[in-house]
Amino acid sequence: MTSTSSKAAKSHAGAPASTGLTIWRGLRGRCPDCGEGSLFTGFLDLKKSCDVCGRDFSFADAGDGPAIFVMIITGFIIVGAALFVELVYQPPYWLHALLWGPLAIILPIGMLRPLKGLLVALQFRHEAAEGKLHKD
Ligand SMILES: [Zn+2]
Repeated sequence: MTSTSSKAAKSHAGAPASTGLTIWRGLRGRCPDCGEGSLFTGFLDLKKSCDVCGRDFSFADAGDGPAIFVMIITGFIIVGAALFVELVYQPPYWLHALLWGPLAIILPIGMLRPLKGLLVALQFRHEAAEGKLHKD
């Protein structure tokens, strides 16, 4: 473990937050360290640092994690709901398109930011970083 990665989870406020609190902060898009400052500058763009505590967010790299979780979760919800509605009510296909089409757009957009915040917060909590080889 490098000295920079071990500094990642040390809180400015003293003791590190619990995992539950870190998850809550991430889902709300708040700084995983202080819980006050916003994690995002745009819809999905991360700030360089926290406005409140100054925590550097350069460690944060969620990669494709949020997108794959959103696809899996929304696919499970929408396909499951469509199958349930088809088996129970057997509505016409245009009604399926009317129900699930907008939901397939709205649900992923609504989930993407909280999931990105969650993954960044968990990355902070567990000091996750890119693997590196060290030669001593
Ligand atoms: Zn902060």
